[in-house]
Amino acid sequence: MTTASLPDVAAVRQSHSTGTMKALVFHGSNDIAVEPVPIPRASFGEAVIRVTLTTICGTDLHILKGEYPVRPGLVLGHEPVGIIHELGPGITGYEVGERVLVGAITPCGQCQSCLSGNWSQCGGPIGGWKIGNTLNGAQAEYLLVPHAQANLAKIPDELSDEQVVLLADIASTGFSASETANLRLGDTVAIFAQGAIGLCATLGAKLKGASLIIAVESEPRRSQMARRMGADVVLNHQEVDVVAEIRKLTAGLGVDVAIEALGTQGTFENALISLKPAGTLSSLGVYSGKLSIPLQPFLAGIGDQKIVTTLCPGGKERMRRLMELVRNNRVDLRDLLTHAFPLDDIVKAYKFFEQRSDGVVKVAIKP
Ligand SMILES: [Zn+2]
Ligand SMILES: [Zn+2]
Repeated sequence: MTTASLPDVAAVRQSHSTGTMKALVFHGSNDIAVEPVPIPRASFGEAVIRVTLTTICGTDLHILKGEYPVRPGLVLGHEPVGIIHELGPGITGYEVGERVLVGAITPCGQCQSCLSGNWSQCGGPIGGWKIGNTLNGAQAEYLLVPHAQANLAKIPDELSDEQVVLLADIASTGFSASETANLRLGDTVAIFAQGAIGLCATLGAKLKGASLIIAVESEPRRSQMARRMGADVVLNHQEVDVVAEIRKLTAGLGVDVAIEALGTQGTFENALISLKPAGTLSSLGVYSGKLSIPLQPFLAGIGDQKIVTTLCPGGKERMRRLMELVRNNRVDLRDLLTHAFPLDDIVKAYKFFEQRSDGVVKVAIKP
């Protein structure tokens, strides 16, 4: 781009007319509907993308049930792949029509939290999570991307939408469990629950160099997938005493890293009990109600265990790195997209996903 072209840029950087679009709107607990809403317009520093593929997250189910509060009228969804439709003033290095992935977390890149490296907590508690939380989300035909310069990750031509959509949230979150735990080469790991995030946590432990990966899951399809993602052993918690089995598998010591990937008191406690002294509990679950720490497995508070949590790492550099893992065949998450629905049927898809019908892991939603 030449400097001389700059003054006209804002005026010509929109490829389509405005109007209304279809979007999934949250009205209250267990009350969502696809309805027409205005197509967003990009102001300074923002972009609008035409969403080509998105999905439904377990966190969206928490919102639907009223367990995580958002304002009525909000468009849900935080896992977008799309094509740049409009670029607001101040965005450079992008063109309308380019394919992009946007992380679930869209940090500003400029505030105290971001510049301290705490991107997900941008601007305040859980503040990096904006789309489908405090701003309209991705389960729509178009999405307004805030802080677009920091959050539009160009998709390499050779990668399909299906290959990258799960990087926006579940892969970034799942992999982060081992990263935040500072998992070392040769560590033993147990991952509690093999939903989409747990499966990605299993793969993340493998990528980080764990020596033994123990997954906990009862559902047969998820157990199979856990093995494909790198689990050496899958323990069915409905058939065996998981904690006792983990002790057996680790010479009575417990694991170096226990990953909680469900968000319940029971799995949190089992993760804690399965830890070796000075081990790390890496918690990914979103908890509701109350979470308490039992004293005995916490070794009365003097066992040198660490409890760490991670909100999905976002921003375009994180997305670029994850896409490089896919492009170089280190990561393939397409099997996790077990079902597909058009946006028009997304309310049905929520029900299907919530009831875990037909062994569903993730649903692809096509606007
Ligand atoms: Zn999510
Ligand atoms: Zn920030």
